[in-house]
Amino acid sequence: MQTPPRTFWRARLVVVCLLVGLCEQAQAADYTGPLFDAHMHYNVEAQQPHPIPDVLGRMQRSGVRAVLANSRPNDGTRALTEARAQTQAAGVAVVPLVRLYRNRDDYGSWFQDPTIYEMVQAELARGTAAGAYRGIGEFHLYDSANARGKVAQQLMALADQRDLVVLAHVDDAAIDLLMAATPSAGKTTRLIWAHTGIGGASVERVRGLLVRYPALMGELSYRPGLTCASAQGGTVLCPDWRALVLEYPDRFLLGSDTWINPRWQYYEAQMQEYRSWLGDLPPVVARKVAWENGARMFGLPVQP
Ligand SMILES: [Zn+2]
Repeated sequence: MQTPPRTFWRARLVVVCLLVGLCEQAQAADYTGPLFDAHMHYNVEAQQPHPIPDVLGRMQRSGVRAVLANSRPNDGTRALTEARAQTQAAGVAVVPLVRLYRNRDDYGSWFQDPTIYEMVQAELARGTAAGAYRGIGEFHLYDSANARGKVAQQLMALADQRDLVVLAHVDDAAIDLLMAATPSAGKTTRLIWAHTGIGGASVERVRGLLVRYPALMGELSYRPGLTCASAQGGTVLCPDWRALVLEYPDRFLLGSDTWINPRWQYYEAQMQEYRSWLGDLPPVVARKVAWENGARMFGLPVQP
């Protein structure tokens, strides 16, 4: 018996609807809630091309409601905290960190330079117009063995004792070495792992570190292998990262990492890219990664 044409077309319509339905599901709407920029530099070379009204405008247009601010040298962070009227008008909370770098030369020697330890202590004692510094960093270790440097070890112990947050651009081996230098052996150390392994530590290794160190947080800028193209041409988390973020929704943060001036030019595009892949996550998880995890770390309101 031949298929009656009407039934045939009805069946085709059902298939098309199903496909369209799936397409709509995959092209989830972008995340529209607040963002916490947990990796923001306002370095000396950014301040002339991007004065404070310019950077605040970029944050405001991006829906960024708080920034973890640090700069080389620390004057940039202090200038942001002193521009209280402007930051409040823009609706941006500034959470200051002490950076370990007075200049570019310090990147390669801070971990064994006692004058850096003195500078950090002086900055902590001085504080900012937005109150006490809440942590130290970002610092870099291009060779994980330098985590054994005397000043690196002293700063980790200091952070642990004073409940300061540490923002560290290091590899996975250095995470273990830095945590070992703390009085709590990393059990209470509030370390934000900048880029969560920019060298590509495996998802399994990242999971193992999250389990081992309960207060370790992963900041996701520049993380290789994080995002994949969706079938519809959008950006989504790659399956292994999506699974990890769903497993540990309280342990991840986003950042702009404005380490060079072009990052300021692309600030809004970067935040839009985050909104795109956040939209593919369950809304509760997206909001945690986008805002609540950072807000919780620094006592900011869950509803900014
Ligand atoms: Zn950075």
